[in-house]
Amino acid sequence: MALGSTQPLTEMRTRRITSTKVVTTKLYFPKVADRLKLKISVTPNLTMMVTGHGIIKSYLYKYKIIYSPMCPCKIGEQKTDHILYDCEVVKQEGDELKTELLRSENWPVSNDTLINKYTKILKKFVDSVHLEKL
Ligand SMILES: [Zn+2]
Repeated sequence: MALGSTQPLTEMRTRRITSTKVVTTKLYFPKVADRLKLKISVTPNLTMMVTGHGIIKSYLYKYKIIYSPMCPCKIGEQKTDHILYDCEVVKQEGDELKTELLRSENWPVSNDTLINKYTKILKKFVDSVHLEKL
């Protein structure tokens, strides 16, 4: 392959995207067997939350689609954990999630506990935050 070809860059980008997805997804599904056991209907928002891919600002920034990864709340970069645990813009939705989980868990709950034990509550949260408006 000749130097200057775009093929190696495309391969590198694909590899990088894949590795980012694996790291974020591992927080939710440390064991592949757990994911296989879980019967969930996957929505686009839930997929975005467990992969870190989509309209989340840190992801868009990483691939130079936007100029800053900062969340509009200005507390930190807009990553999935920020949205789940710290974001002031979705504070009301986050407080509702926290209140529901505090009935049976300590807060904060780990990502894998959240997806494996409280899938419906997590889905309700991610569908309520309207990330496209952030
Ligand atoms: Zn925020």
